[in-house]
Amino acid sequence: MTTDLRGFRPQHPTLYQLAPDGESLEFLFAQCPACQKLVFPADVPGCSHCGDPLHGADKVARPGGGRLLEYVTLHVPLLPGMEVPRIAADILIEDGLIEEGVIAGSDESALRVGMTLRAVAVALPGGETFTCRFVPAAGAAE
Ligand SMILES: [Zn+2]
Repeated sequence: MTTDLRGFRPQHPTLYQLAPDGESLEFLFAQCPACQKLVFPADVPGCSHCGDPLHGADKVARPGGGRLLEYVTLHVPLLPGMEVPRIAADILIEDGLIEEGVIAGSDESALRVGMTLRAVAVALPGGETFTCRFVPAAGAAE
């Protein structure tokens, strides 16, 4: 995974952007003006922690990643064109915020519940866009 994806477009530009290193992803949060907590994605209609309408909330980019809560390998495509096998995971990306993500590759053996994951950009077929995949963070398996 040494491909530099600068110049590619994010598949979901409201959720993440490419970090300056050209490989990692930054997640795009809103910071709630009422409770100061981070909300994801940034364009949700209200704070998921306190219900504030988030008018004038600051957008905040943070290094993408989180803690692995659980995962399962899917062997049957749930949608046409979905690559299988794929590892679907629930990931705690920020205090109180759990998102579904996809682990890069199809090898469960390196995964441990509770480990730290890092979000990286992976090019999609076609060569113009990238999507978000999670990999174990350096040292997470030790
Ligand atoms: Zn709030």
